[in-house]
Amino acid sequence: MEKRTAVCLDIGGTFIKYGLLTEDGELSNFKKQKTNKNGTDGLIGQVIEIVKELIIQSDENQITGIGISSAGQVNHKKGNILFATDNLPGWTGIDIKSIIENHFKLRCCIDNDVNCAALGEMYFGNAKGLEDFVCITIGTGIGGAIVKDSKLIHGYVGSAGEVGHMIIKAGGRRCNCGNRGCYEQYASASALKRDIIEKLGMSYLTPDNGFKLLITDYQTDQKLRNIMNGYIKYVSMGIINLLHLFNPAAVIIGGFVSEYDFLLKKISENVYQKAMPEFTRDLMIFPTLLDNKAALFGVSTYIFKEIQ
Ligand SMILES: [Zn+2]
Repeated sequence: MEKRTAVCLDIGGTFIKYGLLTEDGELSNFKKQKTNKNGTDGLIGQVIEIVKELIIQSDENQITGIGISSAGQVNHKKGNILFATDNLPGWTGIDIKSIIENHFKLRCCIDNDVNCAALGEMYFGNAKGLEDFVCITIGTGIGGAIVKDSKLIHGYVGSAGEVGHMIIKAGGRRCNCGNRGCYEQYASASALKRDIIEKLGMSYLTPDNGFKLLITDYQTDQKLRNIMNGYIKYVSMGIINLLHLFNPAAVIIGGFVSEYDFLLKKISENVYQKAMPEFTRDLMIFPTLLDNKAALFGVSTYIFKEIQ
């Protein structure tokens, strides 16, 4: 018997990743291309071309539906984009579910990329078997997803989980959301990079602008250690807020922090020290497994669970 297959796309501010996924989690035809920044028509056109390409590459009869994971705030039920930053120009307000369904006469499911990543981890990754957990992804900004009783908390209009915009410092650094003192202004990878460049210069960056954070540097370089300890304190503060709000069994961290074992360890130690003890008694803190493919895996589960 033919396997049910979903066409899946993960639309980010820099790349669109895409591929075909079967119900049992086999990913094929995986590719990525630069996100089209030429406004609404440019991006919609690109999405339609990618879906076409994947349908051609598959046996058309197997396609159960089209799953779209997108950066920004997404109304999963209605299938529209509530808000996207300038990283996805012209994307705010687009009713992408109807556009895709009308064009391809196939069902389309859409959700925010971190929600999709959390589902990916829950069905195929490190969060298998967990019913209550919080997932945060630390990159240019900070995204979040909250899973309660094996279901995502979407909130009233679908925007729940904007972890990066928890305000953790009154009158603090200005954020692109319009407020000051947001979590991502202190705990994102960009925030740390800015601190390091401002205080220590560029020598801590690799030629391609990545980090050169080494455990030996952390241990021997007092100035770097001070900056890192400040960063660790801020990342932990946000996690502690989430623990106290949702009392999850686990916190799963994707993106920048998950690439550095020593950083994850320091953050965990800080959280265990400072959160109220009942909240950390059996708490697990660990990195994501599927990382940049988690959202593709996650959005495919919508297709197979919502479409029979
Ligand atoms: Zn903000």
